[in-house]
Amino acid sequence: MSHDPDGLSRGVKLLHDPLRNKGTAFSQAERNALGLRGLLPPRASDLPTQVARVLENTRRKPNDLERYLYLVALQDRNETLFYRVVVDHLEELMPILYTPTVGRACLEYGHIFRRPRGLFVSANDRGCVTEVLRNWPHEDVRIIVVTDGGRILGLGDLGVDGMGIPVGKLVLYTACAGIRPEQCLPITLDVGTESEARRCDPLYLGLQQKRLEGEAYDALLDEFVDAVREVFPDAVLQLEDFANRNAFRLLEKYRHQMPCFDDDIQGTGAVALAGVQAALRLTGGKLKEQTFVFLGAGEAGIGIAGMIVAGMRAEGLAEAEARRRCWLVDSKGLVVRERDDLADHKLPYAHDHPRLPDLRSAIEELRPTALIGASGAPQTFQQPILEAMARLNERPIVFALSNPTAKAECTAEQAIAWTGGRAIFASGSPFPPVEWEGRRIVPGQGNNAYVFPGVGLGAIACGARQVTDEMFFEAARSLAAEVHDEDLALGRVYPPFSRIREVSLSIAVAVAEVAWARGLARVERPADPAAYIRQQMYEPSYTSYV
Ligand code: NAD
Repeated sequence: MSHDPDGLSRGVKLLHDPLRNKGTAFSQAERNALGLRGLLPPRASDLPTQVARVLENTRRKPNDLERYLYLVALQDRNETLFYRVVVDHLEELMPILYTPTVGRACLEYGHIFRRPRGLFVSANDRGCVTEVLRNWPHEDVRIIVVTDGGRILGLGDLGVDGMGIPVGKLVLYTACAGIRPEQCLPITLDVGTESEARRCDPLYLGLQQKRLEGEAYDALLDEFVDAVREVFPDAVLQLEDFANRNAFRLLEKYRHQMPCFDDDIQGTGAVALAGVQAALRLTGGKLKEQTFVFLGAGEAGIGIAGMIVAGMRAEGLAEAEARRRCWLVDSKGLVVRERDDLADHKLPYAHDHPRLPDLRSAIEELRPTALIGASGAPQTFQQPILEAMARLNERPIVFALSNPTAKAECTAEQAIAWTGGRAIFASGSPFPPVEWEGRRIVPGQGNNAYVFPGVGLGAIACGARQVTDEMFFEAARSLAAEVHDEDLALGRVYPPFSRIREVSLSIAVAVAEVAWARGLARVERPADPAAYIRQQMYEPSYTSYV
C-alpha cells in the first residue's frame, strides 16, 4: 500500500523537492510507499556513499568555477546531501563556495546562470515589496542576507550579479552554525548598476539602468526594511556588500529598528580583532600598546579600527587615546584633520598630524607594530614596506585582508620572504602554507565566516531585538580564545575551519549572553545556554519517511 506521510509530496515531485529529496538514499520501503519504484536506480546508497560520489565528481571538475556550479546544482537537488558534504569537507569546499571562487561566479553570473536562488527585489517593485517577500515559499525565515551589489568583495559594483554573495553567505550560516536552510533567505536589491559593461551585456539579468540614488534609493530601502519586519518578524537582517556611501548610514538607520548588522563593518572588525589578539600571544605585547596603520579607510578598515578601539578601552585606555593608536591611509594618503575631503566615517581617525602622501611614509613616520590591509588594492604591501615593518618590529603583524585573492595587498609568500620569516600573517582569502628555512608556516584566513554565522545563531536563539557592537566584541573574544597553542605554533592566528561549528557555538553563546544581560532578548535565558543553542543546530542527516 502506498501512502504519503504527513501529506508530503511523493513520486517525481518528491525527487524535485530539495529539502526532502534523498535521491538514491531512499530505502526500498520508502520507494514502495512514496511512489518512487522505478524512478531511481535499483540499488540504494547510504549518505556516506552519496558523499563519496559527490566528492569524486567535485574533484574531477577541471576548475573551481565548474566545481562551484556542480555544488550549487546539488544544493538545488538535495540540500541534506549538499550540507553533509560541505560540513564534512569545509576546508576544501569553502574556497569554492565562498571567496575566492564566488567572486568569479558573481563576475560571470548572467553567463553561468542556471536557475534562480534567493529573492530579487527591484526598483520596479516599489509599492509592492511586501507582496514580493510573501512569494517566498518559507514562512519561518530567521536570517536574511541582503545586498544591493554596490561593492561586491573588492570587485566593485556588480549590480544584480552580486547575488552569489548572499547565497554563499547563507550556505555558511547553515554549514558553520547549523541554521536551518529553510530559515535562510538571500536577497538582492536590484537598484541598477554603474557598470556600463554590465548594462550593455545582453546576458546581464538585472535592470539596465544606472543606480537609483538619493531619495528614490532611500524610499526603496525603507519600504524593504518595513516589509521584512512585517513578513518575517523573527528575522535578523545582515547588510552585505553595500558601497560605503550607503553602508554606514543604512546600518545606523536600521540597527535600532530591528536586529540588523553589517558584516563588512562589524563582522570584519571582530574577525580582525580576534586575529590580532591571537597574534599578540606570539609577540607578547598588550593590545593597548600597539600602533596600527590601516591601508583602506572604508567599511572594513573603519570596522576593524572601531573594534580595536573597543579592545583597547577594555584594557583601560580612554577612547581618544585608543583612536590615536589607529592611523588610516586611504587612496589620498594619511587621514589627518587638515584634509577637507574626508567622509564622515573617517573623521574619528583624522588626527592632528602633517599630511603624509602614502603608506610608505606613514610607516616610517608612525612606526606601527601592525599593518592591516583593507583597501581592495592589490600588491600595495610592496617589498620596501614589509622590509620596514620587519626593521621596526621583531614580529610584525601583517594582515592583507582584501578579497578575492587577486586583490590581496600581498601574498603570504611575500609577507614571509620580505620580513625574513618573521611576519605574523593573515589574509582575507586563503593562501597555501609557506615553507621558510625548513619551517612550514600556515597563513591564517581572517575570514568573516568565523564570526557572522555564530553571531546570527546567537541572535536567533535568544530572539535578540538588536545586534550590538558589544555582541561583536564578545564574539571576537570568543574566537580568539578558540585559537590553540598548536595553531599559533604553525603561525596560524585563527582556528582551523574543521572546528568551525564549535567556534560558532561559543560565539553564539557569547552573543546571546550579551542580549540576556542587556535586556535585549525576547527568549528567556535557559539554565544551560550552550546546550539550548546546540540542540537548535541543524545537522544534515536524512529522516525516514516510513
Ligand atoms: P570600501 O570601498 O568601503 O573601502 C576601500 C578603502 O580603500 C577606501 O577607503 C579607499 O580609499 C581605500 N583605497 C582604495 N585603493 C587604495 C589605494 N591604492 N591605496 C590606499 N587606499 C586605497 O571597501 P571595504 O568594504 O572596506 O573593503 C575593502 C577590501 O577589504 C575589499 O577587498 C574586501 O573584499 C576586503 N574585505 C575583507 C574582509 C575579510 O577578509 N575578512 C572583510 C571585509 C572586506
